[in-house]
Amino acid sequence: MPALFCRCVTCVRARALRGKNIRTRSSALIDGVLKIDFPPDTLSQVIHHDVDLTEMKAVLFTHGHDDHFSPSELQYRGSYFVSPPITSALEIFGPRDVIQSVSCSLDPELVSTALHCIEPDRPVSVIGYQVFPFTANHDPSRVCLNYVIKGPDGASLLYASDTGWYPERTWKLLEKFQIDGVIVECTKREEGGYPGHLSVPEVARMRKRLESTGSLRPGAPMIATHFGHLMGLLHDELETLLSIDSIQAAYDGMTIDINPA
Ligand SMILES: [Zn+2]
Ligand SMILES: [Zn+2]
Ligand SMILES: [Zn+2]
Repeated sequence: MPALFCRCVTCVRARALRGKNIRTRSSALIDGVLKIDFPPDTLSQVIHHDVDLTEMKAVLFTHGHDDHFSPSELQYRGSYFVSPPITSALEIFGPRDVIQSVSCSLDPELVSTALHCIEPDRPVSVIGYQVFPFTANHDPSRVCLNYVIKGPDGASLLYASDTGWYPERTWKLLEKFQIDGVIVECTKREEGGYPGHLSVPEVARMRKRLESTGSLRPGAPMIATHFGHLMGLLHDELETLLSIDSIQAAYDGMTIDINPA
């Protein structure tokens, strides 16, 4: 936000007010080494939010929608573009179609990568992080994954962008995890419309549901992100609305600590 070609009231206000109302596309960097998604705004995030990708060792893709997935940018990790050269191969994990696209987008002569296909419900180790992938309720035409990621310190993060409301089997599946923090998409203000995205009331219900089954500690951080401009809300308004249910509104450059119980 503001969206590329949009003149809605919210985008016009965001262009004027700037600050936290300027939002690039969703992504996260864990402990400086594990990147979740690689959106087309990554260079802008590095420039404007002091993000350091020089120690990044792995990228974990959720799905191939282009607001999350800009694989050709990864070529700039290659020795031709970097001084001093990075000698380690970049470990790249994601659904099969994503890995195929990465393979087509990158020239192995330019950048060294190790590509790994991920299947839903098959745990995988990613540079020392235990990653449990499961199917998101997002786009039935392709594999879209959400992740429970357990770090070397034992803290577990649920990364749920993108997804709509989970089916019952997924809620049951999540009951076996002890989650210390959640990052979740919140694309819509109200329920209804496209079922593959979550709304403010659903994100609030998600917190209650995870807490009621004991998966999420009361007081654990839950951060909403991936806000659509058509929600009609500026950052301050989102922050106020979400705080009612103890949910934080993400902004570009936000840093959070997820600690084990
Ligand atoms: Zn707009
Ligand atoms: Zn998507
Ligand atoms: Zn998205």
